[in-house]
Amino acid sequence: MFTVPPAIRAQRLTTCKGCKHFKQSTHSCGTIIVGRKLTEEELAEAEENNQITHYRKKTRLCGCFIPEKSKWSLERCPINKWGYYRLNEEEARELAAFISGLPTDGKLSAVTVRLAADWVYKMTGRRVSCASCNAKAVINYLRSETGRLED
Ligand code: SF4
Repeated sequence: MFTVPPAIRAQRLTTCKGCKHFKQSTHSCGTIIVGRKLTEEELAEAEENNQITHYRKKTRLCGCFIPEKSKWSLERCPINKWGYYRLNEEEARELAAFISGLPTDGKLSAVTVRLAADWVYKMTGRRVSCASCNAKAVINYLRSETGRLED
C-alpha cells in the first residue's frame, strides 16, 4: 500500500546509482546488511564499513538492498539525498509517536480511526473507504510501515 509511484522510485534509483556509497556488486547502500544473512563477524565488519563522515558528521549507511528500499514511502537516504514520500521528518516522527501511542488491547476510538485514516491519506493521497470497517488493516499497515522508521 505505501509504495511510491514508479517515477519517484526511478528518481531514487538514479540518485543511488550516482552516489559514491552505492555498491554496484550488491546494489546496496554501503556494505549490504539488510536482506542478507550475515554471521556475527560479517555483521560487525559490515557495520564498521558503513560508518562514514558526511559533511563532518558521523553517520551510518543503511546497508539496504536499494531496489527494495527504493519502493517504500517511509524509507529515506541516510544522508538525505532522497527522503520520505509525502511526509517530512517531523511528520514521520509524529506518525511514529501516534502509532506507538495506540492502545495495545486493540480497542480503537472513532477519533483514533479517523486520525489513522488521515495519516494514510497524507502518505498515499488515497482515501480509505469506510475507515471504521478497515480500521484493523489501516493500523496494521501503519504499524508495519513505521517499523521502517527505526533503522
Ligand atoms: S541511500 Fe543515499 S547514501 Fe545510500 S546509496 Fe542511495 S543515495 Fe547513496
